[in-house]
Amino acid sequence: MLSNPSRAIPEPFAAAIPAAETGGRPAPQVAVAQPLSLVTSNPAKYAPLADLLAQLGVAVCVPGFELPEWQDDDFLAVLHRKARLAREALGSPCLVDDSGLLLDAYPGFPGPLTGNICRLLGAHGLERLLASTTARARLVCHVGCWLQGELWHWQGEVAGRVDPRRPVGQGPGPLAQWFVPDEAGEAAGYLHRRRALEALGRDIARLRQALDAACSAGCVFCQEFAGHASSIYRQLLGRELPSRVVHATPHFLVFPPLGQFIEGGLLLVTREHHLAMAYLPESYYDDLERLMRETSDLLWQRYGCRPLFFEHAPVAPGDKGTCCVDHAHLNVFPVDVDVHRHLEQLPHVRIGRMCELAHARPSNQAYLFLQTQQGARFVYDAPLVPSQYIRKIVTAGIGRPDRWHWREYLGLEELQRTFAALSGWNRHDAAARPRDDAVRVT
Ligand SMILES: [Zn+2]
Repeated sequence: MLSNPSRAIPEPFAAAIPAAETGGRPAPQVAVAQPLSLVTSNPAKYAPLADLLAQLGVAVCVPGFELPEWQDDDFLAVLHRKARLAREALGSPCLVDDSGLLLDAYPGFPGPLTGNICRLLGAHGLERLLASTTARARLVCHVGCWLQGELWHWQGEVAGRVDPRRPVGQGPGPLAQWFVPDEAGEAAGYLHRRRALEALGRDIARLRQALDAACSAGCVFCQEFAGHASSIYRQLLGRELPSRVVHATPHFLVFPPLGQFIEGGLLLVTREHHLAMAYLPESYYDDLERLMRETSDLLWQRYGCRPLFFEHAPVAPGDKGTCCVDHAHLNVFPVDVDVHRHLEQLPHVRIGRMCELAHARPSNQAYLFLQTQQGARFVYDAPLVPSQYIRKIVTAGIGRPDRWHWREYLGLEELQRTFAALSGWNRHDAAARPRDDAVRVT
């Protein structure tokens, strides 16, 4: 069934996966741990710049696809094609680069053709080319990103001269070794890249903003929060209930979900677009802990059942062919169903605080997070578990297996009842007792 799975999948899960969701799809090969990746087939050339990359929040990754070297004498034309191809192959905006030499004596030459020209001419050819003219040159690096239908690009360069008589050893290539930068120091050969990244750094706020906008434009939650008439929620229930938000904190909104199969179900969603709970800024986690405690207490008071909290986080951007495949949200179900029993065959770890998610999640793979009714927290490695898998377990557990798929059971009545019961929940009396009709399935 699985032609190239990244690991063995426990039998019950393999059986539960619709063929269309695996279909021989290879495991993601592109290492994308951060929302902004610099794609290069030669990561070694950025190794000395790790400090700067970390500061910019840029992860260097090797593409799992072919990134051809285009033969064009214009850096921007090459960068344009590379950036578009990487964007399409990776499924999300990413950075690409191109560098080369520019000889003062021959404007624009060899530019993006540097590698080929150096190989063709060799040391003697290059020496002849420069015999009666200046050997002054610049080493140039261009970094680009295809975003919002245009090429964003930054440039860095270092001045020096070319000396083809220098011996070429086991280095990064003849170019780097024949080029003698004016500036001394071990890292001088990387200065053009450092300067291109520094130029990007001066633009990083604007770039991040555009990336966020590009990601959230296709997101149903972002559309709803921005009040777009086209959002799914607005279309379904916008007239009767213009906002379904029952509670808000500095970083999160709480509201009943579409596909509400039981009264009292909730979503805890970030106000801003974030990929998943494991990728939140540090400052969010205290707010999240408090909110999860309050939510649990409230549902206990109202429905007589501690809820389970659950997240099925997507793999990092790029796997599913969309920009941002999800918007961080926890599902909350006040039901007495033992979900961990169904998941414990997956590799998993226990965590204490939510901020530990970032380290506990498997790298570059989808994960499941579960907080049980007793408050135990688990993070499961879930590369190929279908997205509605927990809903299936829970709806079966409460005797309503027909309600597992949210599109087929929208639960608009339950949504409205939950909204009526919980909206403005700060007004609820903390001492309120559980209702005796708790956990009704209607
Ligand atoms: Zn969003």
